[in-house]
Amino acid sequence: MCEICGFEKCPSSCPNYIPPKTTYYCSICNEGIYDGEEYIENDIGEYAHWECVNYGRDLVRFLGYDIKTMEER
Ligand SMILES: [Zn+2]
Ligand SMILES: [Zn+2]
Repeated sequence: MCEICGFEKCPSSCPNYIPPKTTYYCSICNEGIYDGEEYIENDIGEYAHWECVNYGRDLVRFLGYDIKTMEER
């Protein structure tokens, strides 16, 4: 039992809390991508939470495309 919070398993508010292990990290928010979370992977093997790229612009940047502004017609 944890001597700080008194629980067997520390809640995330406890300094002894150990976050679940993951191999994959979101390249946008830098948080881990855990079981049950939706994610996407790009051509160079980076991962991102789907909710982090849900705004279109981040998605195109993540996929390595440039967002351009058309200046000449
Ligand atoms: Zn604790
Ligand atoms: Zn993320």
